[in-house]
Amino acid sequence: MYEDFKVGFKTTDKELNKKYGFIPTKGIKTKRIDSNSKNKLEAVVLINNIIKSVYPNHINQATGYVEYVGYGENNQEFIRENKSLNEVYDYDVPVYLFECVIEGELNYVGKLNPVKQPYYSEAPNMNNEMRKIIKFPFMIKGYSYENYIDKNSFKEDVDTTKSEHKKNTNTTAVNGYIEAKIAARNPYVQRKFRNSLLNEFNSKCAICDINEKNLLIASHIVPYTKCKDVDEMINSNNGLLLCANHDALFDKNLISFNEYGKIEITGNKYLSTALHELLHIAEDTEIEDLHLNEERKSFLQRHKVK
Ligand SMILES: [Zn+2]
Repeated sequence: MYEDFKVGFKTTDKELNKKYGFIPTKGIKTKRIDSNSKNKLEAVVLINNIIKSVYPNHINQATGYVEYVGYGENNQEFIRENKSLNEVYDYDVPVYLFECVIEGELNYVGKLNPVKQPYYSEAPNMNNEMRKIIKFPFMIKGYSYENYIDKNSFKEDVDTTKSEHKKNTNTTAVNGYIEAKIAARNPYVQRKFRNSLLNEFNSKCAICDINEKNLLIASHIVPYTKCKDVDEMINSNNGLLLCANHDALFDKNLISFNEYGKIEITGNKYLSTALHELLHIAEDTEIEDLHLNEERKSFLQRHKVK
């Protein structure tokens, strides 16, 4: 019955409930053997509603890593579906991920394998009140968690994290931080980030004409040590393709860009007019409009206040 679930398969909420027998809930749909609520779980459907989600799920179809977010209700207890999803970790229950991009339509994304125990975290709700949330880490089937996690950098990251967060007693936050650092350090993830920038910028520096790949750097706008989550670290909109010199200027905050992509030479104290010329920067240097989507603009804004 679940063999219908293939990439490209479209369905509706109603059909999942009626034809496939899932319990008519919104984000997490469960199905128990013989529809008896006391029986073992037969299957779970997770819906990533991009239009409505208050607590966004972290789903990266490029790396295969998925963090599904459940949230506490009433006394911040985890009940019903969130609790059911926990069972997935104890038994071998298939989990299917769907995405809702257009109202009323669900697209199948893939089957999920749990990769780590769920963990608790916090996030603001619509009224900006902090709520307890629970994150369920999965990989989309066909992607390898081993490839995703660079084990060597794990060790190193745990150590640096400890020293950087001595005062932080919130282990969930630390775990999230470690998770994020691992992801960003992963060579596979870094290559993805670089490749998408090479593509977007046609293998040419965003400021000058240097187009030799060996001299081009996938530069983070908001450095990944300051990113809020994995998404921001691996999001190519949080990047610019720059030649080695321009990367150094940007990285050291000697130059920045305003929301129109126009350069702001903030390091004039160190940069003589002669250096401006040598470095090919001028008051009218700018990033092309086509690279200035809203997301990138907001990252550029954060670079400025760094
Ligand atoms: Zn350049």
